Amino acid sequence: MNGQTEISIVERLNIDDTPRGEKKYYFLKLISDGFSSYISVPVMVARGEKKGPVLGVTAAVHGNELNGIPVIQRLFNEVDASELTGTIVGIPVVNVPAFNRKKRRFNDGVDLNHIMPGKIDGNISQVYAYRFMQRIVTQFDYLLDLHTASSGRINSYYVRADMEKPVVRKMALLQNPDIIVHNPPSDGTLRGAADDLDIPAITLEVGNPSTFQKKLIRSGVEGIHNVLCHLKMIDDEIIKIERKTVMCQSSKWIYTDVGGLLTIQVELRQMVKKGEKIAEIRNIFGSKIKEYFAPEDGIVIGKSVSPVNQTGGRILHLGIIK
Ligand SMILES: [Zn+2]
Repeated sequence: MNGQTEISIVERLNIDDTPRGEKKYYFLKLISDGFSSYISVPVMVARGEKKGPVLGVTAAVHGNELNGIPVIQRLFNEVDASELTGTIVGIPVVNVPAFNRKKRRFNDGVDLNHIMPGKIDGNISQVYAYRFMQRIVTQFDYLLDLHTASSGRINSYYVRADMEKPVVRKMALLQNPDIIVHNPPSDGTLRGAADDLDIPAITLEVGNPSTFQKKLIRSGVEGIHNVLCHLKMIDDEIIKIERKTVMCQSSKWIYTDVGGLLTIQVELRQMVKKGEKIAEIRNIFGSKIKEYFAPEDGIVIGKSVSPVNQTGGRILHLGIIK
């Protein structure tokens, strides 16, 4: 796509707007601001020559989680619509007001990924979520929702998925991630709202916030490529990676119970044993005031990289293998 590419303005996603065998780009008007100006979501559609499933790929539901944006751009760059079966719909930024403010939350302070599927006559974030679901997501047959860690934290490349659902399980395994956490969708997430509509969905946690990470972007594109192969939307081979995926039955965050300066002594993807030291806290004068130990065996999915810590700060996200 170059600067000359035409971008159409629409009010809802209508797959038929894109001719078969072509890619089209849209701004979809969702809500309006105090100037009565529209706040529009970018929509990318690659419509295949042949009929088939609609795969939705969404990014930046949290406005500062950026790695998914180049994943979608690169996917659209690489896919040949004339060779495609079915349709790929890419939403590089779901949460437009938050993206512009480089923040996680919507402009009323609400986390969009806690209020899906929104409310027809609610407040601004609820209506935004509702219209996003109604005008776009309801047309998906499958959903891949791309996230990253939150500010001040880093993540491995991991997938959250309901591994008891065979289709969802397959979509998760095809990503070749470092870690898969079995996680039935909780209320309010985009993944959960899609699941309620019987749209198989997984969440991909693609690295760190507020940046583009080349290697992980490549991994994200490969994972989507594999789903396209599996759904027979493209005629290509599934990419197998040497990486061994660690399967977790659940996961939990470990929090501090005192404030101070936090240092964490384990790395991403490191296996830890119950009782192993994982972190310590020093006061502002440099004296150690607390040590933390792994509550059970597990793997480090994500961790804090922000030393300043108050009581109740997050230390690390531990995947429980069992
Ligand atoms: Zn997120």
